Amino acid sequence: MPYLVERMRPFTSTIFAEMSALANRTGAINLGQGFPDTDGPQSLLEDAVTAIRSGANQYPPGIGVAELRHAIARHQRRFYDLDPDPDTEVLVTAGATEAIAASILALCEPGDEVVTFEPYYDSYAACIALAGATRRTVPLRKPDFGFDPAELRAAFTDRTRIVLLNSPHNPTGKVFARRELELIAELARAHDVIVVTDEVYEHQTFDGVPHVPMATLPGMADRTITISSAGKTFSVTGWKIGWLDAPAELTAAVRAVKQFLTYVNGGPFQPAIANALDLPDGFYQQLASGLQRKRDLLTRGLRAGGLEVFQPRGTYFIVTDVAPLGYDDGVELCWRLPELVGVAAVPVAVFCDDPEPARTLVRFAFCKQDEVLAEAAERLAKLTAR
Ligand code: GLN
Repeated sequence: MPYLVERMRPFTSTIFAEMSALANRTGAINLGQGFPDTDGPQSLLEDAVTAIRSGANQYPPGIGVAELRHAIARHQRRFYDLDPDPDTEVLVTAGATEAIAASILALCEPGDEVVTFEPYYDSYAACIALAGATRRTVPLRKPDFGFDPAELRAAFTDRTRIVLLNSPHNPTGKVFARRELELIAELARAHDVIVVTDEVYEHQTFDGVPHVPMATLPGMADRTITISSAGKTFSVTGWKIGWLDAPAELTAAVRAVKQFLTYVNGGPFQPAIANALDLPDGFYQQLASGLQRKRDLLTRGLRAGGLEVFQPRGTYFIVTDVAPLGYDDGVELCWRLPELVGVAAVPVAVFCDDPEPARTLVRFAFCKQDEVLAEAAERLAKLTAR
């Protein structure tokens, strides 16, 4: 790609697009890219249609329609006792992706550093590079994907500007525990840095494990940008309605960048998502319990097939180790998996600066219909030892 700026050259394609294309080409069951194969709540779909029919088809306000900003603020109060001002402390974005990009671009000067954990969601590395900043990653290690506090401490320097956190964590399914968040918060305060926290899987935790938003820790609301998205919670990944809440000065900084990225998006989807956020608790409980069941369904299949499974406590991903089957390269295996057994997955090593510890790790998405998961499990059971 001779025309592409140098800093973006390592990011010419995404593994999600590649593996979805491979699945489509081969007709494999796609447990690679994380998207549900069923629609979100019927009322949500109807509300979007109604909004389109009633003329909500021009630019919404740059910060998002008032109904949605108020609904986001209500949601933060209802679930976390946070109290963002819907007019100055909430910003609607084109998915969580734009909220992440705009936050990094707004806060980092070239040469600044961003501390994040690896494996990391792929857009983090690309956005940090786009800003001319540098990432400093702290490894999460199997089987529990914990981190070494000393390594986290050592990642902070006088150039650290942001800690970019993701909990529940893609791809590992780790839900950061309060004591882990407390250490991150302590270091953020000591080094006077902002925490940007990607909580798109906030309602997808299992086994009674609570999601603890960083902003709920003492003193942290003042230095935290909290990001979420309708895509995961309401199974509408194609709508690209995301948001953030943060103190007014931080929100204003991110808004300044956001308005020149997309300006706005998804006019008729915004009021529909506003209504969905107010759905009763039962909706949110069923979302989590339904996914937990699917997790268990796929886990059984993967174990029966001889893969080592690292049980996720959140998200809709399972990380496995394919080494017990004799495979020594997850990237290579993912390219061959559709032809071998008719299933697509995603290698974890591509989300790491140091691919070695993740060399044999492979991620499967379980946000699929039960029959699809059962069929995938049956096929994976045929992945005989090499
Ligand atoms: N977040 C989804 C995943 O992790 C994919 C999103 C994308 O394709 N950019 O699978």
